[in-house]
Parts: sequence; C-alpha cells; structure tokens
Amino acid sequence: MTTSIDTRTGGCLCGQVRYTVPRQPLATVICHCRHCQKQAGSALSVVAVFPRDQLHLTGSLSVYEDRGTSGQKVFRQFCGRCGSPLVTDTERAQEAGLIFIKAGSFDEVDDIQPTTHYWIASAQPWLPLPDGVELLQQE
Ligand SMILES: [Zn+2]
Ligand SMILES: [Zn+2]
Repeated sequence: MTTSIDTRTGGCLCGQVRYTVPRQPLATVICHCRHCQKQAGSALSVVAVFPRDQLHLTGSLSVYEDRGTSGQKVFRQFCGRCGSPLVTDTERAQEAGLIFIKAGSFDEVDDIQPTTHYWIASAQPWLPLPDGVELLQQE
C-alpha cells in the first residue's frame, strides 16, 4: 500500500481490510441515528465523506443491507472477521459519486474535525454536544 502526505490509511481491527483515501475528506460528520448506534455498539458514528473513486480497499467486506428512515437502501459494510464497521454506501451516494467511511477506522484520528451532527433527536442523553457545530434534528 502506498502512503504519501496526500493520502490517509485505515482499516479494521484485525487488519484483514485496509484502505487508502485522500487525506482531506470532503466533509466529516457525526451521525446519532439509532441504526448507527446499533451498528457501532456505541453512542454515535463518525462519518467521513470521499469521492467514491478515490477509495482503494483491499480485503473483503461483508454487507448488511439496511434501510434508512427516508426509505433508501443503506449498505453497511464491515469486516466479516472482526466486525469493524468501515464503509457505508447508499443509493443517493452512488448517484452523487460519494462514499462514506467510518472515520474511527482511520489509522490517524487526531485531525478529525466533524462539522455537523445529524439525528441529534436520538443522541444519547449523557453525551454533551459541542458548540460551534451544526446540529440537525434529522439527516
Ligand atoms: Zn477485521
Ligand atoms: Zn446514522
């Protein structure tokens, strides 16, 4: 796998799946929807958006076909060996040429700067929401 200053690497917990994306995501957002909470087994999901043709991935992903609240299909992709959620794809993302990466799987996470929080209506109540970001009730 090639690395340079302009790219970013990441992968699942066990290392079976590895990927390279551009260093700078188009956007980084937080999703507080219940589906993301369930899939992550956690309070939220950190999602980085990239052009889908710039995701280079090795290893094999398992797919769970979920359905978003809006009715569109959500393809939740994860490592079938260790279970790490890595990639989320939607019908809308396919049309827009985008792909969503679970940013907690980046090798380096120090520079993640989420700008928008979605679905705060279902945010877990113990979790303080930061100032200076966009807070949206739904998606
Ligand atoms: Zn794995
Ligand atoms: Zn979500």
